[in-house]
Amino acid sequence: MNAEIIAVGSELLLGQIANTNAQFISKELAEVGINVYFHTVVGDNPQRLKHVIETAEQRADVLLFTGGLGPTKDDLTKETVARHLGVQLVHDPEALHYIEDYFASVNRQMTPNNRKQALVLEGCEVLKNTTGMAPGMALTKQGKVYLMFPGPPHELQPMFLKSALPYLTNTFPELDRIESRVLRFTGIGESQLEHELEDLLSAQTNPTIAPLAKPGEVTLRLTVKHRDPQEAKRLLDACEEKIKARVGEYLYGYGETMLPEALVHTLKEKQQTVAAAESLTGGMFADALIAVPGASSVVKGGVVCYHPDLKVSLLSIQPDVIKTYGTVSEECAKAMAENIRRIAGASIGIGFTGVAGPDDLEGKAPGTVYIAVATENGTTVDSFRFAGSRASVRNRAVRQGMALLLR
Ligand code: ATP
Ligand code: MG
Repeated sequence: MNAEIIAVGSELLLGQIANTNAQFISKELAEVGINVYFHTVVGDNPQRLKHVIETAEQRADVLLFTGGLGPTKDDLTKETVARHLGVQLVHDPEALHYIEDYFASVNRQMTPNNRKQALVLEGCEVLKNTTGMAPGMALTKQGKVYLMFPGPPHELQPMFLKSALPYLTNTFPELDRIESRVLRFTGIGESQLEHELEDLLSAQTNPTIAPLAKPGEVTLRLTVKHRDPQEAKRLLDACEEKIKARVGEYLYGYGETMLPEALVHTLKEKQQTVAAAESLTGGMFADALIAVPGASSVVKGGVVCYHPDLKVSLLSIQPDVIKTYGTVSEECAKAMAENIRRIAGASIGIGFTGVAGPDDLEGKAPGTVYIAVATENGTTVDSFRFAGSRASVRNRAVRQGMALLLR
């Protein structure tokens, strides 16, 4: 069995965007054993799209379309497929409600073309869009499978994994099932993680382990091929145990859980509260935590004390500490954490000081960062040398601070 991916959009042909959707889908299909023989790109033109569909039907069992499901005139994928297959377009009540609710919630008038996004091919399976408005579609007709996805990758990807893959494995029972588990790490770099797991990464075949680095965190995606969900779980659990035995202390969460959510959740469980004194991070730490629903029960607040004078006046740091050691110092970070803990009445105080760059400060190089954590058991200070731009140093400091509190 084989597939053809048809990306619709003139901006692809004009070179304004790259066809990353085809790359994503190809990689996923390879995992379940569906061969992709052709990638086709066509502009927003119904005649040429029809021609592409006719050609693809001659050489593929599964046709996957991306793009052109939106509300505007140039979005014509489903209209063209529907006409070609002789199928009506009908309103999907659930999708329509979702769109109406969205417009009501933002207090905006819904325009008629937005109703168009809720039109689906009659008799199709609607693929729910959890990150946008246009639903996807799956339809099997005369032995061919037609799958349609919206263009934006952040809408297509979850839809593909949650709805389209199960549709394909149900339609073709002889395919391997796949299941993935994502482990999220922080406080350890990608190269260090790969080093610790080197032999596992190369020897492990089912599940496979794929590392992926983002600023300040690394994820491992374990992917298992299986014929039975129980078996899949057993294989994934066993692989996860092997990984945890080596780098378990850096694992903070699974799947879509982000670091701030994991930290708020952990603090809540431990019934702890936190307050932050932030110099180079300028409030980013507090902001990231407060963005999480439920933060109010664990975040007391914080102060942005960027200028040395404010460290003295707002946080009552002894001028001598700054005079003797400077603001970019272990001693200053320690005083910041301890004083904000006391002032806020929090169980944990955290202090951030350092050099975001690009210039040196107090004779210290850009990327030098001290993070102190004060609790009832005393205060620890960790020093770091982060590489990268000003933005990257500040982001890393925030994430590292969260990692320290998760330990
Ligand atoms: P929308 O409702 O956003 O209009 P749509 O399904 O109509 O979605 P398009 O209008 O074709 O999709 O594309 C919307 C955006 O999705 C594009 O501007 C681009 O950012 C992204 N996109 C579209 N096709 C691809 C592709 N093949 N690969 C990567 N990104 C894409
Ligand atoms: Mg569009």
